[in-house]
Amino acid sequence: MLPIIPRLAGLPLAGADSGGGGRRIGLLGGTFDPPHNGHLAVAELALRAAALDEVIFIPAGQPRLKPESPSATPEQRLAMVRLAIAGRPGFSAWDGECFRAGPTYTVDTLEQLAAERGGGAELHFIMGGDVLANFGQWRAPERVLQLCRLLVIPRPGNGPGDGEPDAAAGLPDCFRRRFPEAAGRVQYLPAAELQISATELRERAAAGQPLQPLLPPAVERYIIEQGLYRPAGQ
Ligand code: ATP
Repeated sequence: MLPIIPRLAGLPLAGADSGGGGRRIGLLGGTFDPPHNGHLAVAELALRAAALDEVIFIPAGQPRLKPESPSATPEQRLAMVRLAIAGRPGFSAWDGECFRAGPTYTVDTLEQLAAERGGGAELHFIMGGDVLANFGQWRAPERVLQLCRLLVIPRPGNGPGDGEPDAAAGLPDCFRRRFPEAAGRVQYLPAAELQISATELRERAAAGQPLQPLLPPAVERYIIEQGLYRPAGQ
């Protein structure tokens, strides 16, 4: 079970000024190599703090801005995401990115989802502060900001204080200068309580260390069954 996130009580809802009756959809893109409780905490937090109707997990195919290729295949990462979110209301997985040939661009995903979900849907892309730091290197960042709002969850070393109330104030100066249209399109949420990373989990698995309680037990069972993240030759 995930811990309850106590600081959400009393937070203003991001939807309060949206003025529309559109379905509020959160998108959590990532490598999910493997998915862990940090991802679930972030999705849960965004669901409640931004009053989303649902969160769609989107495993990437070949992430362009990650230095290393994923260890697990797209099929395995999608399977692990499905196991991680099983039985959690409001969460689903979308496989449109992980089987796309070549590097994955979020703007293509947003265009596709906006077309599929229709004009009434409000898309919110959920990301850790580490990902916002690379936003300037994304393909068509201005178009991304037109297609969705960004919900940013600080990670150590990447973001302002918890629950920064004024999104524009929380953005680095260079970001604000480069993307003036970001004002009002970026919202910081409180930091997730769980400072877990997939890198740490891969290292623990490679060292034969236990993975609990850092990810759902079903995902750990899958990792063991599939022999994932073991050092070469084992
Ligand atoms: P890695 O360690 O391999 O870089 P990761 O743990 O960051 O992986 P990703 O699949 O790359 O996992 O992350 C998907 C999204 O979830 C990213 O936006 C990332 O910033 C965010 N995220 C993951 N873990 C956390 C966390 N503990 N707090 C806040 N955001 C997180």
